[in-house]
Amino acid sequence: MLVPALLPLPGSVRAAAVVPDDSVRIAILKSAPDVTLSGEGLLVTGDDGQAISLQLPVMVKPLKNGLGVNGKFFRRLTFVSSAAVYVNSKPYRGVTELSFAEKGILVVNQLPLEEYLVGLINCEISSAWPIESVKAQAVIARTYAMNRKAARQSAPYHLESSVMDQVYDGCLIEDSRALRAVNETKGEILTYSGALIQAFYHSNCGGKTEAAENVWGMSVPYLKGVDCIYCLTALPAAAWECKLSLDDIESRLRSSGYKLSGLSGIKAGVNNKSGRMQDVTVVAAKGGVTMNGNQFRKVIGFGVIKSTRFTVKIQQNEVLFSGVGNGHGVGLCQWGAKQRALDGFEYREILSYYYPGTRLQKLSEIR
Ligand SMILES: [Zn+2]
Repeated sequence: MLVPALLPLPGSVRAAAVVPDDSVRIAILKSAPDVTLSGEGLLVTGDDGQAISLQLPVMVKPLKNGLGVNGKFFRRLTFVSSAAVYVNSKPYRGVTELSFAEKGILVVNQLPLEEYLVGLINCEISSAWPIESVKAQAVIARTYAMNRKAARQSAPYHLESSVMDQVYDGCLIEDSRALRAVNETKGEILTYSGALIQAFYHSNCGGKTEAAENVWGMSVPYLKGVDCIYCLTALPAAAWECKLSLDDIESRLRSSGYKLSGLSGIKAGVNNKSGRMQDVTVVAAKGGVTMNGNQFRKVIGFGVIKSTRFTVKIQQNEVLFSGVGNGHGVGLCQWGAKQRALDGFEYREILSYYYPGTRLQKLSEIR
């Protein structure tokens, strides 16, 4: 997504020397073969919390169960700066922690929730969108983050920095409108029966949002699916096509563990109530299988089959997938929210539309 050139944030960044309760821990790199750190006035501490003097920039390498810097061994390194910590040249607010995990270096950025949200907005949408849709994004990202934090309290980090959770790329793409949306919704989250909701969201539903039970098999009262003609104004951007050879599809299936050979076709199953493909049949000489539409997306690639709202056409040795929408379709539709904001709806109305039965509350009210 293109990020517009907007005002950078004024002033310097305050480092989180004492980590407050509302901080979140984001995995920004996993299994990294090396990490280079730099920054103005960088304070580095080792295993015992003692400050270490290092020549900057410094490259950290993984060692067996630890980290190596200039020939010395550490289990954990912590970096904090009065401005920003640069990790492989990208700036991050708050505290950056390095430790050994999964044969490489795990880099976790810990920072106050509200600062995390300002950085996240332009990774997920564009802050140049109508401000009410940007505010809706801030509320659902805050709700999602706090929900994950509660679920992963004892884990090394609360959130991935990718589409696995929410995309986050540090503070470089913050701007004044992202800050405004976060500030104008400060501390606001969505609840259902007094508890944080699972605030799933996606890019474009293609006409109707999806019920959570059709994607993950769990029935959620506020994630039942609603009509959303609003995102269709984003067409043809929301429409997609992809052509894959039968050989390519077979090799993708095999590398996901499906033992089949002689793939000869793909048969579309029935559509569910929201117009998405319920199941897909893979026709093969040996090992043909029928699988759930979402599973098929996962196997072929979420970025290739962009949604389960698609049709299939066989053309000789190739399969043409033509679809509408982008993402799993559950919860708020980002492009739909944008259009609703353009139509004059406030963020509260947009949120209650996509998550019916929920309440907008302050985090402090549910603690
Ligand atoms: Zn939509």
